[in-house]
Amino acid sequence: MFSKILIANRGEIACRVIKSARRLGIGTVAVHSEADADALHVRMADERVPIGPAPATQSYLAIDKIVAACRQTGAEAVHPGYGFLSENRAFRDALDAAGIAFMGPPANAIAAMGDKIESKKLAQAARVSSVPGHLDALADAEAAVRVSREIGYPVMLKASAGGGGKGMRIARDDTQAREGFTSATNEAVSSFGDARVFVEKYIEEPRHIEIQILADRHGTCLYLGERECSIQRRHQKVIEEAPSPFLDPETRRAMGEQAVALAEAVGYESAGTVEFIVDKDKNFYFLEMNTRLQVEHPVTEEITGLDLVEWMIRVAAGEALPFGQDDISLDGWAIEARVYAEDPVRGFLPSTGRLVRYRPPAENDTVRVDTGVDEGGEISMFYDPMVAKLITKGPDRASAIAAMRTALDAFHIRGIGHNIPFLAALMAHPRFVEGRLSTGFIAEEFPDGFDGADLPAATGKRLIAFAAALAMRGAIRDRMISGQLPGHHPSVPRDWVVRVDRTNHPVHIHTVDTGFEVTMAGETLSVIGEWALGATVIEAFIGGERMAIQVDYDGIGYRLTHAGAVMTAQVISPRAADLADLMPVRIPPDMSKYLLSPMPGLLVSLSVDIGAPVEAGQPLAVVEAMKMENILRAERRGVVRAVLAEPGSSLTVDQQILEFE
Ligand code: ADP
Ligand code: ADP
Ligand code: MG
Repeated sequence: MFSKILIANRGEIACRVIKSARRLGIGTVAVHSEADADALHVRMADERVPIGPAPATQSYLAIDKIVAACRQTGAEAVHPGYGFLSENRAFRDALDAAGIAFMGPPANAIAAMGDKIESKKLAQAARVSSVPGHLDALADAEAAVRVSREIGYPVMLKASAGGGGKGMRIARDDTQAREGFTSATNEAVSSFGDARVFVEKYIEEPRHIEIQILADRHGTCLYLGERECSIQRRHQKVIEEAPSPFLDPETRRAMGEQAVALAEAVGYESAGTVEFIVDKDKNFYFLEMNTRLQVEHPVTEEITGLDLVEWMIRVAAGEALPFGQDDISLDGWAIEARVYAEDPVRGFLPSTGRLVRYRPPAENDTVRVDTGVDEGGEISMFYDPMVAKLITKGPDRASAIAAMRTALDAFHIRGIGHNIPFLAALMAHPRFVEGRLSTGFIAEEFPDGFDGADLPAATGKRLIAFAAALAMRGAIRDRMISGQLPGHHPSVPRDWVVRVDRTNHPVHIHTVDTGFEVTMAGETLSVIGEWALGATVIEAFIGGERMAIQVDYDGIGYRLTHAGAVMTAQVISPRAADLADLMPVRIPPDMSKYLLSPMPGLLVSLSVDIGAPVEAGQPLAVVEAMKMENILRAERRGVVRAVLAEPGSSLTVDQQILEFE
């Protein structure tokens, strides 16, 4: 076994690997860029080596610097995590040359599976069911049309070197095939430096279901069940679960055996994932193989009881797997939600800044948090916007979902925009709960994006009662501090008004032993629970229902967040409520005539000039941050009056880019 390993990654996955290594008594070395000098993974590791400036190309992707860091620290093996160099053949070759072990498959497997055309050819040879398609690079747009017609529309044009959902286009007719070929080729060249595009059948209403495999170098290769990852936004996974609500044992076994056959065909070693697309009749087709640990591996760990990182370490050290296929059993249900620094109400644009508050829910038998940051940490524009993964487990799917809802309600992040409200809305969505998933779920169910979950009337009432109880408890405390007798609170008024969106809800509050009874519009709800004043996440029974509510108080009112919905409530005296009705509404300054940068980043390009008319939805500018190009679009029609920022310049959040007439 190794005595020291180096983790060539950052964020949650570096922390995750360090945890397993530590449990095995193995020393750990973190590498870090200048931007990450104080990052959590660096503080968790036994040793640290700085490897260069913030941009990944000069640090986390610099093969020579990472090999040098191994030499300098005496690390005997490298875990590459995911992303960065994890599927890079040259990295594996460089480590081999330096006599350093790599926790992953041999170079030929990385190379074969890194290319979609090559891997599909291999899959066919290994008798793995593949998407019907034409496994040669297309010569030109006319070839794309000809082959698409042969396959039959709809089809998907794909970059052979593609990954991360880039370089893919769906085509439903000749025109779209021609256009799709051109745009997929352009994206393939700019993202991967490889123009090859091929075409395959587009599977309608597909589910993404993948098989986890694990192989040693002594001839054992096992499948560890499946993960369903159909909840995707722009071909990127958001929610994953294991098992899949769709598979039966026969299909699971058939997919598992084909995944193993493919892995064996390339002499696979270590953990890997074979991705399939599954149609509504449970026909499954090979998509691609990821030759690394996958982001969503924890759901498999939770239902198999295996620590995949531990086995990657052991396999790389030459150990044989001490269990066989019959020893693998799937127990219970696990769900993972990816917490991204992306603001769902701003079109999911990445958000950067300092984590003023970062309090994940407590970990226990049902809740696991794989996190890469902590309070006070900085989310920078240089890396992936994923901050943590929240994993919940239960005996069945319904209890895993219920645990996820509670955990999301308790996850407290302030300082950056994040997608927790969106994740909560997904968990509450009836179609998700029924398990009727497809990769089109988010696009179909949230066609206009997301601007906060709906607040059901019953929940709204409970939140009003809760706001009243919060204010009451505060008022009681204030009276006690100012020297009044504890016990009964004769001087605390019982009648208040909870004001929500300029609507007054008169309430009468009655104190009981365990909390309060709040009467409004003839209905009485009890609010039962203990909480410290100033607590930011409060659990209480309200009207008999257990709720976790996040509370932000700004000195005037409460902002209450529950299940992805937000209510802003002021609790005031009836007299103040009468006066509030007379107050003029303050009109915020009109910023709609500006295009503002929604995040700090680099202004890559502008597609309009002074005097240009624009239509709603028209792309105006491209801002790069967190390794992603974000297209800023016109909110409504107008004419450009002034250009206020030049391409190439760095933007701060809310910086004005364009002014409209
Ligand atoms: P897939 O490649 O099938 O989308 P995953 O969902 O596991 O599989 O990963 C999403 C993609 O984003 C992968 O290409 C992965 O390498 C990359 N990625 C995800 N998170 C990070 C990160 N923190 N740093 C670098 N790359 C990442
Ligand atoms: P990447 O390397 O970018 O992860 P994949 O080939 O794994 O590319 O595809 C990513 C996603 O695109 C899949 O999870 C699925 O949602 C969708 N997809 C890919 N190929 C097809 C297809 N032939 N039919 C329908 N959907 C597809
Ligand atoms: Mg994929």
